[in-house]
Amino acid sequence: MQSKRLIINRFKCAYCGACISVCKNNANELVETFLRIDENKCNCCGLCVKVCPMNALSIEEV
Ligand code: SF4
Ligand code: SF4
Repeated sequence: MQSKRLIINRFKCAYCGACISVCKNNANELVETFLRIDENKCNCCGLCVKVCPMNALSIEEV
């Protein structure tokens, strides 16, 4: 069975918060200077991937 997962490249992330403001599932949050993704809440809708100015987010097949 194939499933998807949201991946963050922590070297690219600028902690701007854009991905958090578009997420309807509250699946991502900034913890100090660390973007955390809750895999149980994230449905891989891809909205955050589109708005990230740093190209730090991607959805991969796992
Ligand atoms: S939108 Fe991109 S650069 Fe901004 S906090 Fe999210 S992952 Fe980081
Ligand atoms: S892929 Fe969609 S559900 Fe997952 S963190 Fe990004 S905006 Fe939220």
